[in-house]
Amino acid sequence: MAVEIIVDRNKCIGCGRCYDVCPKAPLIWKKDEDGKYYAYDVEYCHNCKFCAGRCPTKAILIKVVKPKKRKEEKRMK
Ligand code: SF4
Ligand code: SF4
Repeated sequence: MAVEIIVDRNKCIGCGRCYDVCPKAPLIWKKDEDGKYYAYDVEYCHNCKFCAGRCPTKAILIKVVKPKKRKEEKRMK
């Protein structure tokens, strides 16, 4: 599923819960030099929203990225 995961760095307290609950954590999540977490690669994310649900500061926003191309192609015809 094509998603975008946005972590609000101002809200992230580096607790690591997003990492702990994510079934694909080692493929998706990384910690930066300030100890804050970010979604490094969302290719393996299946939008279960466990991470967002467990984040104590509601720092995680998950957006489904809709494939727009097809619609545009249809309209062209
Ligand atoms: S669960 Fe939320 S506050 Fe904790 S590390 Fe992840 S994004 Fe940061
Ligand atoms: S939505 Fe699920 S699979 Fe995607 S990053 Fe969050 S916990 Fe991991």
